[in-house]
Amino acid sequence: MVKSLGLSDALYAYVQEVGTRLAPAQEGLRAATAGMQAAGMQIGADQGQFMGFLVRLLGVKRALEVGTFTGYSALSVALALPDDGRLVCCDISTDYTDIGRPFWEQAGVAGKIDLRIGPAVETLDRLIAEGGADGFDFAFIDADKSNYDAYYERCLVLVRAGGVIAVDNVLWGGAVIDPAKNSADTVALRALNRKLHADERVDITMLAIGDGLTLLRRR
Ligand code: CA
Repeated sequence: MVKSLGLSDALYAYVQEVGTRLAPAQEGLRAATAGMQAAGMQIGADQGQFMGFLVRLLGVKRALEVGTFTGYSALSVALALPDDGRLVCCDISTDYTDIGRPFWEQAGVAGKIDLRIGPAVETLDRLIAEGGADGFDFAFIDADKSNYDAYYERCLVLVRAGGVIAVDNVLWGGAVIDPAKNSADTVALRALNRKLHADERVDITMLAIGDGLTLLRRR
């Protein structure tokens, strides 16, 4: 589980203690996810805090998420959205999202979250076909890495000019710079990182938060 590359456990704990404020539902969902085998797929509390901060800073009203897992990032974003804000979440099953839903309800944000179950490429294509282009202020991509490029291209259509796309796990535990590591996911992330660096459709900043988070501002 990579929560923060390069920080000692003690220093990372300090970041959580003095830099992160959690709502009771966020505490609850972290506790409910912590014992799971796949718990490492949950973003760190500091990253959730950062994403919520970003949503407020940008005045996001319409947000999109690809890959919801147990719903912690969705909860963090939804808490930061205004009352009339909306978050469309894409995931392939409700197995994990069912764990998060009670906490979305506890936080009073379940009504802001529109969960679409199915392959995300299909969901995103449907949103585009329904006239969703330029309709989102913020998108978070955190699903299967081999499809990241397909998700990115669709998010670039759905997010308005000036809006932000956040791409998670871009450092992939350091595998992106290890020539001995060439899994399909690693190869896909490596290629996407190079592509984004050269992509003149967006401004880019890569952050070493969590497992690496690239922020892209659509030009
Ligand atoms: Ca992730």
